Amino acid sequence: MRLILLGPPGAGKGTQAARLVARHGIVQLSTGDMLRAAVAAGTVLGRQAKAIMDAGNLVPDALVIELIDQRIDAEDARGGFILDGFPRTVAQAQALDALLAKKGLGLDAVIELDVDEAALLKRVENRVLETKAKGGAVRADDNPESLKTRLEAYRKQTAPVSCYYSEQGELKQVDGMAPIDEVSRQIETALGGVAA
Ligand code: AMP
Repeated sequence: MRLILLGPPGAGKGTQAARLVARHGIVQLSTGDMLRAAVAAGTVLGRQAKAIMDAGNLVPDALVIELIDQRIDAEDARGGFILDGFPRTVAQAQALDALLAKKGLGLDAVIELDVDEAALLKRVENRVLETKAKGGAVRADDNPESLKTRLEAYRKQTAPVSCYYSEQGELKQVDGMAPIDEVSRQIETALGGVAA
């Protein structure tokens, strides 16, 4: 099963992706996680991406397309994957179509978590509090100023990605404001008929 999860920051993509991984035995490919790992490792890519990410802007398309292109070829992605945080621009969506076609692969579903923007700031605040309570490291971009920029980037650059898949008849929307278990149920219903 090969899926895309769309939705703004704080929509619950990470939580739902983790559940899909557990249920369907596929891997979660998060460009945000890959970029944070590159920043932590101090690679050339990480050094290029850090300031852009901290400010809440999108890193250049070519960098994330290259990351995904290579990651999809890894052994653990053969059984299927869920893309979390990619594609985030129409150019990335087009590049994904081209690279999947080149690899002889297709997408089974594109799922969008529909959320009320006013609730997102609260959700991200909660994520920060929970992370701190667990003694974990808070993301450098989980602050009100960067979140504002991330939401703007979402509105301007990522919202058109939903239209792109909607026009292709591939988009399935679920209510991301529902309780977590209910969102999972709606996703499974949307996936009905897609082989595990
Ligand atoms: P995320 O963990 O998905 O919220 O991503 C964190 C940050 O990484 C974003 O705010 C961007 O700066 C960068 N990023 C992650 N995925 C992408 C992408 N597909 N395109 C451009 N930038 C990305």
